[in-house]
Amino acid sequence: MTISSDPKQVTQICFDRINIPDQHKLSVARENGAYKFLPTVLNEMDSAKIIDEVKTSGIRGRGGAGFPTGLKWSFVPRNTGKPTYLLCNADEGEPGTFKDRDIMRFDPHLLIEGMIMAGFALDVHDAYIYIRGEFLHEAKVLNEAIAEAYEANLLGDNILGTGYSMNLTVHRGAGAYVCGEETALIESLEGKAGRPRFKPPFPAVEGFYQCPTVVNNVETLATVPAILEFGGQWHASIGIPNNTGCKIFSVSGHVNKPGNYEVPMGTSLRSLIENQCGGLQHGTVPKVIIPGGSSTPWLTAEHYDVPLTYDDIMKAGSFLGSGAIIVMDETADLVALTRRLAHFYAHESCGQCTPCREGTGWLERVVKRVENGQGNADDVTVLQDAATHMAGRTICALAEGAAAPVLSLLKFFPEDVQSRLAEKAE
Ligand code: NAD
Repeated sequence: MTISSDPKQVTQICFDRINIPDQHKLSVARENGAYKFLPTVLNEMDSAKIIDEVKTSGIRGRGGAGFPTGLKWSFVPRNTGKPTYLLCNADEGEPGTFKDRDIMRFDPHLLIEGMIMAGFALDVHDAYIYIRGEFLHEAKVLNEAIAEAYEANLLGDNILGTGYSMNLTVHRGAGAYVCGEETALIESLEGKAGRPRFKPPFPAVEGFYQCPTVVNNVETLATVPAILEFGGQWHASIGIPNNTGCKIFSVSGHVNKPGNYEVPMGTSLRSLIENQCGGLQHGTVPKVIIPGGSSTPWLTAEHYDVPLTYDDIMKAGSFLGSGAIIVMDETADLVALTRRLAHFYAHESCGQCTPCREGTGWLERVVKRVENGQGNADDVTVLQDAATHMAGRTICALAEGAAAPVLSLLKFFPEDVQSRLAEKAE
């Protein structure tokens, strides 16, 4: 790794080698430090020490929920007589999120190395990468990288002669957004329809085939090699307390240079947009900022200076989520945006829970008629009621995600809705 051991100098972790040509090839990755620290981990560290470092690092799950990774690992029961599984959640389906895709296609060995280290810490011998079905190219790149890793005895039996063995398999999803929810992912991997399970029990205790299972996001696992090489304390010194390390933000919408940017946690939204993304396309402040993917409540112009941390975004009224920042300026048609998202959630609801199955359809139909100028004054009440009563009444968070854009539109931009309703009256 070329990452500095001085945490003050660190500006990126997972993307450190992302721009190196042919980094996806094992020979190139190795020239640039991949797997260099792996023998030290396998020969000189034990499970307790690794979990301790990950806990000390303060890293919180990069898939969206921000649950402390070290804590999740420490919940895994030992000596149950059952195997423990490690599943990498590479289903990345949240509209606006496209960060894991870059790690997998440009630096797959970083993820593989992180999984070997995590697998060793958790006494895992079979690990899987559940990858979004549409990521055909990334699945191919990963499979080629895994084949090279087996060839070099970095995977398989008796890895590098250390006595530790782990197999790694890529499993492609079939295009369902809900399979990014960890228990639906597990159901799907077991060969069933991808429908979420009730939690608890959490997968860490009872997951894949009812065995202890750790499900971690790609970015989380790709951070593990740096945490172990430089130490948990090093990682904890990047960013700000309780929001440590760097984070990749997928920025889209009305910015001049949309894309993935990794920055230390605590960087302000304004700084990210103006320094990394080339500024806004029009105007000086955005009208709407969706901070953590389409399922997260909207922020508005007054939050332009918010520090990008789990805690600050929550204080502002939303969630950092997967770090998918969608920026909209005055030119955006927010009713059309809400209708587009309502369609997505109605299409992706698995249909298991009535409030979600029926509610997402209601949201889509009513927003559509408002958009078309065919709504009436009662539609605002119907939308408010339907969205409010869906959230928190279902097995997974999809219904809450579907409700968020509708509730945000009604809360912050009622005049945009009223002007569409007025179109009918004219
Ligand atoms: P969650 O809070 O239920 O769980 C987060 C993680 O912590 C899970 O792995 C869970 O098993 C674990 N966990 C929580 N409490 C635990 C406990 N007591 N014991 C053991 N493990 C425990 O959140 P979730 O429903 O898994 O995820 C929701 C998030 O997913 C949202 O914040 C959203 O931003 C994000 N999301 C991301 C994408 C994407 O494409 N990256 C897509 C949709 C949603």
